[in-house]
Amino acid sequence: MNYEIVVGLEVHCQLNTESKAFCGCSAKFGKSANTNVCPVCLALPGALPVLNARVVEDAVKLGLATGCTIARHSILARKNYFYPDLPKGYQISQYEEPICSEGMLHVETDEGSKDVRLVRIHIEEDAGKSIHDIGDDTYIDVNRCGVPLLEIVSYPDMRTSKEASAYLQKLRQIVKYLGISDGNMEEGSLRCDANVSVRPVGATEYGTRTEIKNMNSFRNVERAIEYEAKRHIEVIEGGGVIVQETRLWDADKLETRSMRGKEHAHDYRYFPDPDLVPVLVDDGMMHRMREELPEFPEDRAARFVSEFGIPAYDAGVLTVERELADYFEATLNVSGDAKASSNWVMGEVMRTLKEKYLDIHEFAISPERLGGLIKLINAGAISNTIAKQVFELMQEDEATPEAIVEREGLAQVSDTGAIEASIKEILDANQKQLEQYRSGKAQLFGFFVGQCMQKMKGKANPKVVNDILKSMLEG
Ligand code: ZN
Ligand code: MN
Repeated sequence: MNYEIVVGLEVHCQLNTESKAFCGCSAKFGKSANTNVCPVCLALPGALPVLNARVVEDAVKLGLATGCTIARHSILARKNYFYPDLPKGYQISQYEEPICSEGMLHVETDEGSKDVRLVRIHIEEDAGKSIHDIGDDTYIDVNRCGVPLLEIVSYPDMRTSKEASAYLQKLRQIVKYLGISDGNMEEGSLRCDANVSVRPVGATEYGTRTEIKNMNSFRNVERAIEYEAKRHIEVIEGGGVIVQETRLWDADKLETRSMRGKEHAHDYRYFPDPDLVPVLVDDGMMHRMREELPEFPEDRAARFVSEFGIPAYDAGVLTVERELADYFEATLNVSGDAKASSNWVMGEVMRTLKEKYLDIHEFAISPERLGGLIKLINAGAISNTIAKQVFELMQEDEATPEAIVEREGLAQVSDTGAIEASIKEILDANQKQLEQYRSGKAQLFGFFVGQCMQKMKGKANPKVVNDILKSMLEG
Protein backbone atom coordinates (compact mmCIF):
# COMPACT_ATOMS: atom_id res chain seq x y z
CA MET A 1 0.00 0.00 0.00
CA ASN A 2 1.18 3.51 -0.78
CA TYR A 3 0.88 6.13 1.92
CA GLU A 4 1.01 9.89 1.90
CA ILE A 5 2.23 12.06 4.74
CA VAL A 6 0.01 14.80 6.14
CA VAL A 7 1.73 17.59 8.05
CA GLY A 8 0.50 20.72 9.78
CA LEU A 9 2.87 23.05 11.62
CA GLU A 10 2.53 25.21 14.71
CA VAL A 11 5.31 27.75 14.82
CA HIS A 12 6.18 30.06 17.70
CA CYS A 13 8.03 33.15 16.53
CA GLN A 14 9.75 35.35 19.10
CA LEU A 15 9.37 39.03 18.31
CA ASN A 16 12.41 41.29 18.54
CA THR A 17 10.75 44.02 20.62
CA GLU A 18 12.90 46.01 23.08
CA SER A 19 10.58 45.27 25.99
CA LYS A 20 8.39 42.33 26.92
CA ALA A 21 4.74 41.89 25.94
CA PHE A 22 3.11 43.07 29.17
CA CYS A 23 5.77 44.95 31.15
CA GLY A 24 8.76 47.23 30.58
CA CYS A 25 11.45 44.55 31.18
CA SER A 26 14.05 44.02 28.46
CA ALA A 27 13.19 41.17 26.10
CA LYS A 28 16.83 40.55 25.13
CA PHE A 29 18.11 36.99 24.82
CA GLY A 30 21.14 35.71 26.71
CA LYS A 31 21.18 37.94 29.84
CA SER A 32 22.22 36.38 33.19
CA ALA A 33 19.43 34.36 34.72
CA ASN A 34 16.58 36.17 36.47
CA THR A 35 17.82 39.70 35.79
CA ASN A 36 15.12 40.80 33.29
CA VAL A 37 12.24 40.60 35.75
CA CYS A 38 9.68 42.78 37.51
CA PRO A 39 6.47 42.27 39.54
CA VAL A 40 4.41 41.79 36.35
CA CYS A 41 6.45 39.00 34.78
CA LEU A 42 7.14 37.45 38.20
CA ALA A 43 3.36 37.40 38.85
CA LEU A 44 3.56 39.23 42.17
CA PRO A 45 0.07 39.84 43.62
CA GLY A 46 -1.55 43.04 42.41
CA ALA A 47 0.79 43.61 39.45
CA LEU A 48 -1.12 44.52 36.28
CA PRO A 49 -0.07 43.77 32.69
CA VAL A 50 -0.26 46.38 29.90
CA LEU A 51 0.03 45.20 26.29
CA ASN A 52 3.04 46.43 24.29
CA ALA A 53 1.70 48.25 21.19
CA ARG A 54 4.61 46.98 19.03
CA VAL A 55 3.36 43.41 19.54
CA VAL A 56 -0.01 44.29 18.01
CA GLU A 57 1.66 46.12 15.12
CA ASP A 58 3.96 43.16 14.42
CA ALA A 59 1.03 40.73 14.46
CA VAL A 60 -0.90 42.95 12.01
CA LYS A 61 2.13 43.16 9.71
CA LEU A 62 2.60 39.38 9.64
CA GLY A 63 -1.13 38.95 9.10
CA LEU A 64 -1.09 41.35 6.16
CA ALA A 65 2.01 39.70 4.70
CA THR A 66 0.30 36.29 4.77
CA GLY A 67 -3.08 37.44 3.47
CA CYS A 68 -4.89 36.92 6.78
CA THR A 69 -8.10 38.56 7.85
CA ILE A 70 -7.17 40.99 10.62
CA ALA A 71 -9.63 41.09 13.51
CA ARG A 72 -10.43 44.70 14.42
CA HIS A 73 -11.39 43.42 17.88
CA SER A 74 -9.68 40.47 19.56
CA ILE A 75 -9.20 39.36 23.12
CA LEU A 76 -6.38 38.09 25.27
CA ALA A 77 -7.16 34.95 27.21
CA ARG A 78 -5.62 33.04 30.07
CA LYS A 79 -4.39 29.56 29.25
CA ASN A 80 -4.19 27.90 32.63
CA TYR A 81 -1.69 25.21 33.47
CA PHE A 82 0.80 24.49 36.18
CA TYR A 83 4.48 24.34 35.37
CA PRO A 84 7.45 25.50 37.47
CA ASP A 85 8.64 27.94 34.78
CA LEU A 86 5.26 29.70 34.65
CA PRO A 87 4.99 31.88 37.78
CA LYS A 88 1.45 33.12 37.08
CA GLY A 89 0.04 29.63 36.64
CA TYR A 90 -1.33 30.74 33.27
CA GLN A 91 -0.01 31.98 29.97
CA ILE A 92 -1.57 35.05 28.38
CA SER A 93 -2.58 33.95 24.88
CA GLN A 94 -5.47 34.24 22.45
CA TYR A 95 -8.07 31.55 22.02
CA GLU A 96 -11.52 32.23 20.62
CA GLU A 97 -10.70 35.52 18.94
CA PRO A 98 -7.16 35.54 17.48
CA ILE A 99 -5.87 38.73 15.90
CA CYS A 100 -5.28 37.11 12.46
CA SER A 101 -7.05 34.23 10.73
CA GLU A 102 -7.34 32.39 7.41
CA GLY A 103 -4.13 33.31 5.62
CA MET A 104 -1.88 31.68 3.03
CA LEU A 105 1.79 31.01 2.55
CA HIS A 106 3.15 30.27 -0.90
CA VAL A 107 5.84 27.58 -0.73
CA GLU A 108 8.28 26.37 -3.39
CA THR A 109 10.10 23.04 -3.39
CA ASP A 110 11.97 21.03 -6.03
CA GLU A 111 8.71 19.19 -6.71
CA GLY A 112 6.76 22.38 -7.42
CA SER A 113 4.90 25.11 -5.60
CA LYS A 114 1.92 25.05 -3.30
CA ASP A 115 -0.24 27.32 -1.18
CA VAL A 116 -0.32 26.30 2.48
CA ARG A 117 -3.33 27.74 4.29
CA LEU A 118 -3.01 29.32 7.73
CA VAL A 119 -5.64 28.72 10.38
CA ARG A 120 -4.59 31.63 12.57
CA ILE A 121 -1.85 33.82 13.96
CA HIS A 122 -2.23 34.83 17.57
CA ILE A 123 -0.38 36.83 20.20
CA GLU A 124 0.96 35.15 23.32
CA GLU A 125 3.71 35.40 25.88
CA ASP A 126 6.61 33.03 26.42
CA ALA A 127 7.18 31.05 29.62
CA GLY A 128 10.46 30.82 31.57
CA LYS A 129 13.04 28.13 31.22
CA SER A 130 13.89 25.10 33.34
CA ILE A 131 17.59 24.34 33.48
CA HIS A 132 18.36 20.67 34.08
CA ASP A 133 22.04 20.41 33.28
CA ILE A 134 23.58 21.80 36.50
CA GLY A 135 24.09 18.98 39.04
CA ASP A 136 21.03 17.01 40.14
CA ASP A 137 18.76 20.00 40.69
CA THR A 138 16.51 21.88 38.33
CA TYR A 139 16.88 25.65 38.18
CA ILE A 140 14.40 28.19 36.87
CA ASP A 141 15.30 31.23 34.74
CA VAL A 142 12.29 33.51 34.35
CA ASN A 143 13.95 36.06 32.03
CA ARG A 144 11.92 34.71 29.13
CA CYS A 145 8.57 35.03 30.96
CA GLY A 146 6.48 37.57 29.10
CA VAL A 147 8.67 37.77 26.00
CA PRO A 148 6.25 38.30 23.08
CA LEU A 149 5.51 35.50 20.62
CA LEU A 150 3.33 35.08 17.60
CA GLU A 151 1.97 31.57 17.14
CA ILE A 152 1.34 30.68 13.51
CA VAL A 153 -0.87 27.64 12.94
CA SER A 154 -1.18 26.04 9.50
CA TYR A 155 -3.79 23.69 8.11
CA PRO A 156 -2.55 20.11 7.54
CA ASP A 157 -1.78 21.03 3.91
CA MET A 158 1.80 19.77 3.59
CA ARG A 159 2.47 16.36 2.07
CA THR A 160 6.25 15.92 2.34
CA SER A 161 8.95 16.76 4.87
CA LYS A 162 10.53 19.01 2.22
CA GLU A 163 7.32 21.04 1.98
CA ALA A 164 7.26 21.43 5.74
CA SER A 165 10.81 22.69 5.82
CA ALA A 166 10.18 24.98 2.84
CA TYR A 167 7.14 26.40 4.67
CA LEU A 168 9.24 27.08 7.72
CA GLN A 169 12.00 28.71 5.68
CA LYS A 170 9.43 30.88 3.92
CA LEU A 171 7.94 31.95 7.23
CA ARG A 172 11.42 32.76 8.52
CA GLN A 173 12.16 34.79 5.41
CA ILE A 174 8.95 36.79 5.86
CA VAL A 175 9.44 37.62 9.55
CA LYS A 176 13.02 38.68 8.75
CA TYR A 177 11.90 40.83 5.81
CA LEU A 178 9.28 42.40 8.08
CA GLY A 179 12.02 43.00 10.66
CA ILE A 180 9.81 41.65 13.46
CA SER A 181 12.04 38.71 14.48
CA ASP A 182 15.60 37.53 13.97
CA GLY A 183 14.19 34.11 12.99
CA ASN A 184 17.08 32.35 14.71
CA MET A 185 16.12 28.68 15.17
CA GLU A 186 19.13 27.70 17.29
CA GLU A 187 18.41 30.44 19.83
CA GLY A 188 14.74 29.48 19.85
CA SER A 189 13.37 32.58 18.11
CA LEU A 190 11.56 30.22 15.76
CA ARG A 191 10.19 27.06 17.38
CA CYS A 192 8.29 24.50 15.42
CA ASP A 193 5.91 21.70 16.41
CA ALA A 194 4.69 19.34 13.73
CA ASN A 195 1.42 17.40 13.58
CA VAL A 196 2.09 14.30 11.53
CA SER A 197 -0.18 11.56 10.24
CA VAL A 198 -0.23 9.16 7.29
CA ARG A 199 -3.05 7.80 5.15
CA PRO A 200 -3.37 5.59 2.07
CA VAL A 201 -2.94 7.62 -1.11
CA GLY A 202 -6.40 8.68 -2.29
CA ALA A 203 -8.01 8.52 1.16
CA THR A 204 -10.00 11.61 2.22
CA GLU A 205 -10.04 10.99 5.98
CA TYR A 206 -6.99 11.93 8.00
CA GLY A 207 -5.12 9.28 9.98
CA THR A 208 -4.50 9.64 13.72
CA ARG A 209 -1.85 12.28 14.27
CA THR A 210 1.01 12.66 16.66
CA GLU A 211 2.62 15.95 17.60
CA ILE A 212 6.43 16.26 17.48
CA LYS A 213 8.22 18.87 19.54
CA ASN A 214 11.78 20.08 19.98
CA MET A 215 13.13 20.40 16.45
CA ASN A 216 15.59 23.27 16.34
CA SER A 217 16.79 23.26 12.74
CA PHE A 218 15.28 22.89 9.28
CA ARG A 219 17.16 19.65 8.85
CA ASN A 220 15.77 18.25 12.09
CA VAL A 221 12.23 19.20 11.07
CA GLU A 222 12.66 17.16 7.89
CA ARG A 223 14.28 14.23 9.64
CA ALA A 224 11.74 14.13 12.47
CA ILE A 225 8.76 14.18 10.08
CA GLU A 226 10.30 11.44 7.94
CA TYR A 227 11.09 9.31 10.98
CA GLU A 228 7.62 9.77 12.44
CA ALA A 229 5.80 9.02 9.17
CA LYS A 230 7.86 5.86 8.73
CA ARG A 231 7.03 4.83 12.29
CA HIS A 232 3.30 5.37 11.65
CA ILE A 233 3.42 3.24 8.49
CA GLU A 234 5.27 0.45 10.28
CA VAL A 235 2.76 0.42 13.15
CA ILE A 236 -0.20 0.37 10.74
CA GLU A 237 1.32 -2.28 8.45
CA GLY A 238 2.07 -4.39 11.54
CA GLY A 239 -1.63 -4.34 12.43
CA GLY A 240 -1.22 -1.80 15.23
CA VAL A 241 -2.94 1.49 15.99
CA ILE A 242 -1.37 4.95 16.21
CA VAL A 243 -1.91 6.56 19.59
CA GLN A 244 -2.57 10.30 19.56
CA GLU A 245 0.22 11.71 21.67
CA THR A 246 2.99 14.28 21.94
CA ARG A 247 6.47 13.03 21.03
CA LEU A 248 9.89 14.54 21.49
CA TRP A 249 12.50 14.59 18.71
CA ASP A 250 15.89 13.36 19.90
CA ALA A 251 18.45 14.93 17.55
CA ASP A 252 21.28 12.72 18.89
CA LYS A 253 19.51 9.39 18.49
CA LEU A 254 17.57 10.59 15.42
CA GLU A 255 14.26 9.29 16.73
CA THR A 256 11.04 10.48 18.32
CA ARG A 257 9.86 9.18 21.67
CA SER A 258 6.65 9.47 23.62
CA MET A 259 6.37 12.49 25.91
CA ARG A 260 2.79 12.46 27.08
CA GLY A 261 -0.31 10.62 25.91
CA LYS A 262 -3.78 11.95 25.24
CA GLU A 263 -4.97 10.78 28.65
CA HIS A 264 -2.76 13.51 30.12
CA ALA A 265 -4.04 16.12 27.66
CA HIS A 266 -4.55 19.45 29.37
CA ASP A 267 -7.79 21.20 29.90
CA TYR A 268 -6.50 24.73 29.82
CA ARG A 269 -9.74 26.35 31.04
CA TYR A 270 -9.26 29.32 28.74
CA PHE A 271 -11.12 32.50 29.67
CA PRO A 272 -10.72 36.18 28.77
CA ASP A 273 -8.04 37.82 30.91
CA PRO A 274 -9.94 40.32 33.10
CA ASP A 275 -6.73 42.37 33.61
CA LEU A 276 -6.47 43.27 29.91
CA VAL A 277 -8.66 45.35 27.64
CA PRO A 278 -9.61 44.03 24.16
CA VAL A 279 -7.06 44.53 21.38
CA LEU A 280 -8.44 47.07 18.92
CA VAL A 281 -6.99 47.58 15.45
CA ASP A 282 -8.37 50.78 13.91
CA ASP A 283 -8.22 52.05 10.32
CA GLY A 284 -5.24 54.25 11.18
CA MET A 285 -3.16 51.30 12.35
CA MET A 286 -4.19 49.16 9.37
CA HIS A 287 -3.13 51.96 7.06
CA ARG A 288 0.19 52.57 8.83
CA MET A 289 1.09 48.86 8.88
CA ARG A 290 0.29 48.52 5.17
CA GLU A 291 2.56 51.48 4.48
CA GLU A 292 5.33 49.91 6.52
CA LEU A 293 5.28 46.57 4.67
CA PRO A 294 8.58 46.01 2.86
CA GLU A 295 9.00 44.94 -0.73
CA PHE A 296 8.84 41.13 -0.46
CA PRO A 297 11.46 38.78 -1.97
CA GLU A 298 9.55 37.75 -5.14
CA ASP A 299 8.70 41.36 -6.02
CA ARG A 300 12.18 42.53 -5.25
CA ALA A 301 13.78 39.77 -7.37
CA ALA A 302 11.47 40.64 -10.28
CA ARG A 303 12.44 44.31 -9.96
CA PHE A 304 16.16 43.43 -9.86
CA VAL A 305 15.73 41.63 -13.18
CA SER A 306 13.64 44.31 -14.90
CA GLU A 307 15.32 47.40 -13.43
CA PHE A 308 18.97 46.27 -13.31
CA GLY A 309 19.01 43.59 -16.01
CA ILE A 310 20.71 40.95 -13.85
CA PRO A 311 19.91 37.26 -14.42
CA ALA A 312 16.89 35.80 -12.56
CA TYR A 313 19.23 33.37 -10.82
CA ASP A 314 21.29 36.24 -9.35
CA ALA A 315 18.15 38.09 -8.33
CA GLY A 316 16.88 34.99 -6.52
CA VAL A 317 20.12 34.51 -4.57
CA LEU A 318 20.45 38.20 -3.69
CA THR A 319 16.91 38.50 -2.31
CA VAL A 320 16.87 35.43 -0.06
CA GLU A 321 17.75 37.72 2.82
CA ARG A 322 16.56 41.31 3.01
CA GLU A 323 19.88 42.57 4.39
CA LEU A 324 21.82 40.98 1.53
CA ALA A 325 19.46 42.54 -1.01
CA ASP A 326 19.92 45.92 0.71
CA TYR A 327 23.68 45.44 0.60
CA PHE A 328 23.59 44.64 -3.12
CA GLU A 329 21.45 47.68 -3.94
CA ALA A 330 23.67 49.99 -1.91
CA THR A 331 26.77 48.60 -3.67
CA LEU A 332 25.13 49.10 -7.04
CA ASN A 333 24.19 52.69 -6.14
CA VAL A 334 27.88 53.49 -5.79
CA SER A 335 29.36 51.26 -8.51
CA GLY A 336 26.73 51.89 -11.17
CA ASP A 337 27.43 48.38 -12.52
CA ALA A 338 24.69 45.86 -11.68
CA LYS A 339 26.28 42.67 -13.02
CA ALA A 340 29.68 43.42 -11.46
CA SER A 341 28.00 44.27 -8.13
CA SER A 342 26.01 41.05 -8.27
CA ASN A 343 29.15 39.03 -9.11
CA TRP A 344 31.08 40.53 -6.21
CA VAL A 345 28.28 40.10 -3.68
CA MET A 346 27.46 36.53 -4.78
CA GLY A 347 31.12 35.63 -5.14
CA GLU A 348 33.70 37.18 -2.83
CA VAL A 349 31.27 38.62 -0.27
CA MET A 350 29.17 35.48 0.24
CA ARG A 351 32.26 33.27 0.22
CA THR A 352 33.85 35.39 2.96
CA LEU A 353 30.66 35.40 5.06
CA LYS A 354 30.51 31.63 4.85
CA GLU A 355 34.20 31.15 5.67
CA LYS A 356 34.09 33.50 8.63
CA TYR A 357 30.60 32.53 9.86
CA LEU A 358 29.43 36.12 9.57
CA ASP A 359 26.08 37.74 8.87
CA ILE A 360 26.08 40.47 6.25
CA HIS A 361 25.56 43.20 8.89
CA GLU A 362 28.77 42.03 10.60
CA PHE A 363 30.80 42.21 7.40
CA ALA A 364 33.74 44.65 7.54
CA ILE A 365 33.38 46.06 4.02
CA SER A 366 30.54 48.55 3.67
CA PRO A 367 28.61 48.56 0.37
CA GLU A 368 30.00 52.07 -0.25
CA ARG A 369 33.56 50.74 -0.15
CA LEU A 370 32.74 47.69 -2.29
CA GLY A 371 31.04 49.96 -4.82
CA GLY A 372 34.18 52.10 -4.84
CA LEU A 373 36.33 49.04 -5.53
CA ILE A 374 34.19 48.09 -8.52
CA LYS A 375 34.47 51.65 -9.83
CA LEU A 376 38.28 51.36 -9.67
CA ILE A 377 38.17 48.19 -11.77
CA ASN A 378 35.81 49.70 -14.32
CA ALA A 379 37.96 52.82 -14.58
CA GLY A 380 40.94 50.61 -15.43
CA ALA A 381 42.78 51.72 -12.29
CA ILE A 382 43.21 48.12 -11.06
CA SER A 383 42.75 44.67 -12.57
CA ASN A 384 40.31 42.08 -11.28
CA THR A 385 43.16 40.07 -9.78
CA ILE A 386 44.50 43.06 -7.88
CA ALA A 387 40.95 43.95 -6.83
CA LYS A 388 40.76 40.62 -5.01
CA GLN A 389 43.91 41.54 -3.07
CA VAL A 390 42.44 44.96 -2.24
CA PHE A 391 39.21 43.25 -1.15
CA GLU A 392 41.18 41.15 1.38
CA LEU A 393 43.03 44.24 2.66
CA MET A 394 39.76 46.19 2.98
CA GLN A 395 38.58 43.68 5.58
CA GLU A 396 41.51 44.64 7.82
CA ASP A 397 40.91 48.38 8.11
CA GLU A 398 38.51 51.16 7.27
CA ALA A 399 40.57 52.69 4.48
CA THR A 400 38.93 53.45 1.13
CA PRO A 401 39.90 51.19 -1.78
CA GLU A 402 41.66 54.18 -3.42
CA ALA A 403 43.77 54.71 -0.29
CA ILE A 404 44.70 51.01 -0.13
CA VAL A 405 45.69 50.91 -3.81
CA GLU A 406 47.82 54.01 -3.27
CA ARG A 407 49.37 52.80 0.00
CA GLU A 408 50.23 49.33 -1.33
CA GLY A 409 51.37 50.56 -4.75
CA LEU A 410 48.80 48.38 -6.53
CA ALA A 411 47.71 50.81 -9.21
CA GLN A 412 47.47 49.27 -12.64
CA VAL A 413 50.33 50.14 -14.95
CA SER A 414 49.14 51.45 -18.31
CA ASP A 415 52.49 53.10 -18.99
CA THR A 416 53.37 51.66 -22.41
CA GLY A 417 57.12 52.22 -21.90
CA ALA A 418 57.24 50.06 -18.76
CA ILE A 419 55.11 47.36 -20.35
CA GLU A 420 57.14 47.35 -23.56
CA ALA A 421 60.36 46.94 -21.58
CA SER A 422 59.02 44.01 -19.65
CA ILE A 423 57.64 42.28 -22.78
CA LYS A 424 61.00 42.70 -24.46
CA GLU A 425 62.74 41.00 -21.53
CA ILE A 426 60.28 38.13 -21.65
CA LEU A 427 60.64 37.57 -25.38
CA ASP A 428 64.46 37.63 -25.00
CA ALA A 429 64.33 35.11 -22.16
CA ASN A 430 61.99 32.75 -24.05
CA GLN A 431 63.57 32.38 -27.47
CA LYS A 432 62.39 28.82 -27.93
CA GLN A 433 58.73 29.70 -27.34
CA LEU A 434 59.13 32.71 -29.59
CA GLU A 435 60.33 30.50 -32.46
CA GLN A 436 57.45 28.07 -31.86
CA TYR A 437 55.00 30.97 -31.91
CA ARG A 438 56.39 32.29 -35.15
CA SER A 439 56.17 28.84 -36.74
CA GLY A 440 52.43 28.77 -36.03
CA LYS A 441 51.84 27.81 -32.38
CA ALA A 442 49.44 30.71 -31.81
CA GLN A 443 48.29 29.59 -28.36
CA LEU A 444 51.68 30.67 -26.96
CA PHE A 445 50.35 34.23 -27.10
CA GLY A 446 48.61 33.54 -23.78
CA PHE A 447 51.87 32.24 -22.32
CA PHE A 448 53.64 35.54 -23.08
CA VAL A 449 50.76 37.55 -21.60
CA GLY A 450 50.90 35.41 -18.45
CA GLN A 451 54.67 35.84 -18.14
CA CYS A 452 54.35 39.58 -18.52
CA MET A 453 51.54 39.88 -15.95
CA GLN A 454 53.58 37.77 -13.53
CA LYS A 455 56.67 39.91 -14.06
CA MET A 456 54.64 43.07 -13.40
CA LYS A 457 53.03 41.47 -10.30
CA GLY A 458 49.57 41.52 -11.88
CA LYS A 459 49.54 45.28 -12.09
CA ALA A 460 49.89 45.70 -15.84
CA ASN A 461 46.76 46.72 -17.71
CA PRO A 462 45.90 43.47 -19.57
CA LYS A 463 44.50 45.32 -22.56
CA VAL A 464 47.65 47.36 -23.00
CA VAL A 465 49.78 44.21 -22.60
CA ASN A 466 47.75 42.46 -25.31
CA ASP A 467 48.00 45.38 -27.71
CA ILE A 468 51.76 45.90 -27.28
CA LEU A 469 52.54 42.18 -27.39
CA LYS A 470 50.57 41.83 -30.61
CA SER A 471 52.41 44.65 -32.33
CA MET A 472 55.80 43.44 -31.07
CA LEU A 473 55.22 39.86 -32.24
CA GLU A 474 54.09 41.03 -35.61
CA GLY A 475 57.00 43.48 -35.90
ZN1 ZN B 1 8.74 42.36 33.70
MN1 MN C 1 1.49 28.55 21.96
